Amino acid sequence: MSKRKVAYFYDPCGLTNIAADVGSYTYGLGHPMKPHRIRVTHDLVTAYDMLDQMHVLRPTRATAETMTKFHTDEYVHFLNRVTPETAEELTYHGTRFLVGEDNPAFEGVFEFCSISAGGSIGAAQRIASGAADIAINWAGGLHHAKKREASGFCYINDIVLGILELLRIYPRVLYIDIDCHHGDGVEEAFYTTDRVMTCSFHKFGEYFPGTGTQEDRGRGKGKGYAVNVPLKDGITDESFKSVFEPVISKILEVFKPSAVVLQCGADSLAGDKLGCFNLTMYGHAHCTQFLRKHNIPLILLGGGGYTVKNVARTWTYETACALGIENDIDVNLPWNPYFEWFGPRYRLEVAENNMDDLNIKEGSLDKVRINALEQLRELTPAPSVQLQDVPRDSVGKHLGFGIDDGQPRDDLDERLAQHARYIYNLQESAEAPSSDSEEGSSDSDDSSASHWNRQRSRRIGTGKKRMSLLTNQYYDIPHEYGFSPHDYHGHLSKTTRRRFFQSGSRWDENVEQVINDRMQSVNGYPRHSLSATMERGGSWGDRGGEDDDWDGDVSMH
Ligand SMILES: [Zn+2]
Repeated sequence: MSKRKVAYFYDPCGLTNIAADVGSYTYGLGHPMKPHRIRVTHDLVTAYDMLDQMHVLRPTRATAETMTKFHTDEYVHFLNRVTPETAEELTYHGTRFLVGEDNPAFEGVFEFCSISAGGSIGAAQRIASGAADIAINWAGGLHHAKKREASGFCYINDIVLGILELLRIYPRVLYIDIDCHHGDGVEEAFYTTDRVMTCSFHKFGEYFPGTGTQEDRGRGKGKGYAVNVPLKDGITDESFKSVFEPVISKILEVFKPSAVVLQCGADSLAGDKLGCFNLTMYGHAHCTQFLRKHNIPLILLGGGGYTVKNVARTWTYETACALGIENDIDVNLPWNPYFEWFGPRYRLEVAENNMDDLNIKEGSLDKVRINALEQLRELTPAPSVQLQDVPRDSVGKHLGFGIDDGQPRDDLDERLAQHARYIYNLQESAEAPSSDSEEGSSDSDDSSASHWNRQRSRRIGTGKKRMSLLTNQYYDIPHEYGFSPHDYHGHLSKTTRRRFFQSGSRWDENVEQVINDRMQSVNGYPRHSLSATMERGGSWGDRGGEDDDWDGDVSMH
């Protein structure tokens, strides 16, 4: 396979420098999202001697101003100054910006976001300049972050910021999301444009974030340009491939993207703590291999992934796929600082388990594939995507801001920012479906307007309900936005966020229970503590030690 120029973004002193500050960049003890997995991945990539085969770049950290190209000034300002101590007050007791338990205001949260976003923006620039064919940022892929609010462990949407950067150069960008959860934040951002096609493969049904049906296809000019592939528990490599390949092939044919962003969320792997799919490392990496083969400028991003060892294995393998050396590397892991945790097999593999593939069992997979392909067939020919080249100085025009007057790059930045705001204003001011909207057509007993409003409120997140990624349950936000915090004494939930930061504290017991239940149903055995694992010699016996949690990872260094 031919060579590709690969750029790899990694910040050696930021979120991963556990040695410098043990408390930095952890979401809190017991929280399943562990930024530490980026370091474990990096150490494994290093151990496989891949670093000297690619351009290793330290990302320029994204500034607050850069973040406001998508997010509101108010939200970015909040994120820039919030601390664990001030979170309660600055979030108006958990009713704004950081709602619910998923997104704690951990120490250094803004810096963490600036590294993640800086990497994805840098990746886009590297691709756009032609310096790289493939750019990798495993610290990115935080697809749930919303314009004015954190969601599902994501605070700043590095993906949207990266795609906005690509749109300066490329006429059409394809976003593909193989995280177990719907890529709602990115879909939402580009819901009304035909310059970005989003395609998300995800579990749907009583599962976070609760969006991503095949009825959700985009709106206005963007109608048809949001593709959703809702799946059920237990999807295998074979099933996944049988829908991924035809759908993506069709998209490449009809949309002809000039660049592709692939979110490689690793919670779709078998045995993930919060996921419910049954993909092996090879099945997951097949998506990367498939896109590399097409030789379109490609960005690989991280995302979810809560069984840390398997995340590290898979992203390491996918780095090898980007380089085209996956067949040359040893499946027996080289020595690395985390070697002992990869036992007892010490191999670069994520095996499937014996859960049922409900997609096959209930016959839904064929239907989903047919629907998606039908949607894509209706797209051709799409007049506005037939332009082969969009020179930089006419980006504004193609974003619908009239004739470009050739002003310099900074002005274009501003226009892109305006465009993102414009899209949101459009969506938020919509009270009823437009005549060409699909919303409502499938609902028999609702007026289309109320159906649309319900969809919209879920999608845009302006309603009072939110779903938690941790529990997959809807919950109410206790009070209207914008109330005075003085009005709110005595209504605080008994589980305040601050306790994450008390040393030695455990997290929410309900959350622990949910994770245990999930592990039980996925793997047939519950999660165990790290200390219990260590007492047994770090082994699960014949089960391969695939799922111990890394809550103890902070104390390892
Ligand atoms: Zn996820």
